[in-house]
Amino acid sequence: MTSSVLPVPAHAPDQLGLLEAAVTQAFNAVVITSAVLEGDGPLIVYCNPAFCVMTGYTAAELLGKSPRMLQGPLTDRDVLATLRDCLYSGQYFQGSTFNYRKDGSTYLVEWNISPVLDAQGKIQAFVSVQRDITAKVRAEQRQALLARALDATPDAVLIADQQANILFVNQAFEHLTGYSSAEVLGCAPRFLQSGQHPPAFYQQLRDALGHGESFQATFASRHKDGRLYHIAQTITPLKDQTGVVQHYVSVGRDVTELIARTRELRQQAHHDALTGLLNRRAGEKQLQLCQQAAQAEHRVYSLIMGDIDEFKQINDRFGHEVGDRILQHCAKLLSASVRSDDAIARWGGEEFLIVLPGCPRDAAQELAEHIRTALAAHEDAIVGRVTMSLGVATWRQPEDSTELLRRTDQALYLAKQSGRNQVAVAP
Ligand code: GH3
Ligand code: MG
Ligand code: MG
Repeated sequence: MTSSVLPVPAHAPDQLGLLEAAVTQAFNAVVITSAVLEGDGPLIVYCNPAFCVMTGYTAAELLGKSPRMLQGPLTDRDVLATLRDCLYSGQYFQGSTFNYRKDGSTYLVEWNISPVLDAQGKIQAFVSVQRDITAKVRAEQRQALLARALDATPDAVLIADQQANILFVNQAFEHLTGYSSAEVLGCAPRFLQSGQHPPAFYQQLRDALGHGESFQATFASRHKDGRLYHIAQTITPLKDQTGVVQHYVSVGRDVTELIARTRELRQQAHHDALTGLLNRRAGEKQLQLCQQAAQAEHRVYSLIMGDIDEFKQINDRFGHEVGDRILQHCAKLLSASVRSDDAIARWGGEEFLIVLPGCPRDAAQELAEHIRTALAAHEDAIVGRVTMSLGVATWRQPEDSTELLRRTDQALYLAKQSGRNQVAVAP
């Protein structure tokens, strides 16, 4: 590559050589123009190889030409005007705009141009150190774009360092958790924990991340104001080129409403709306499970079927709403009387089935008697005394649950036949 050097004031030859070598080998593009501002303006009198690489021209093609050959439609005229003003007044100029390579492609160039004065203070040349900042600016633009995109996304995003300290959270995170970015930066995300997950849950999380794998789960987390929210979250370790985890990124979506709705639907699917007890289908399912367990483990179990006495009359005399209230009262009393393993279903209109796993006959009879007396002891303000008849039967090999139900029903029928407000036990 050819180059041209202006006459330079006398220096020691080795110093001059060093200077030329330094400029020639400089990473930044260096171009020197003459100081003529009239006519075609300053012309290129020297350019280093980095300038040729940046522009795509050879030194031979550039020397003696105006740097205007590098300009095009995207070159900012205002920047050029400022440049000219600076140079005319002998000042240093710094700026950037688009220039054009020999092949017509554009690059964003950053200029640092200073006048070179002679001994009399007259401008004899301009030296321009230039840098192609296209990639740098693109990277900055890309980073700004990514930051804007992260803030625009409705998913909560958190980025943490190797030690799990928070480096970044987006606006959706701030909105979801109630914490501002300033409050959480540098903190470990532990403060979001709700105490709803067992230690094994966090162990699984640590194990997955420790193996460089993503961890996906629905987290129950604690909002700044104390309430719980649910977030379907994926935490991914980010590795560098050598495969070492440097960061963790967590992306999560608020599923609080979805979970509440699912729970509600599940409750509706299995429970009776009026009493909150299991509905008949769920009661049948519990009976089946109990029968299977009893058969597999040779374990006893019992059933109680209770039916409110003369309930039709209550409805007829006091109205359906009062009847409903009595049903709710009975349901509450039954729930309060059984153990947590027992299941109570609203089997029909005013008929209740209680499934008692592991409960022998005597204990079932005792429970039925307790329910009967407790109900009869209560005086309703409107209805007065309400009573219930109850049938009890205990499973015996090899009958199935249908047969056991039939015997329980038969015992209930017997209790009604015996004058109501009775407990009858199937033989
Ligand atoms: P028995 O002592 O022989 O059991 O007489 P009973 O009147 O209780 O029995 P019957 O089966 O003749 O009447 C049951 C009544 O329960 C009839 C029905 O209108 C009423 N019923 C069923 N479901 C509901 C309900 O959800 N709310 C109210 N208020 N009444 C209901
Ligand atoms: Mg009845
Ligand atoms: Mg009935």
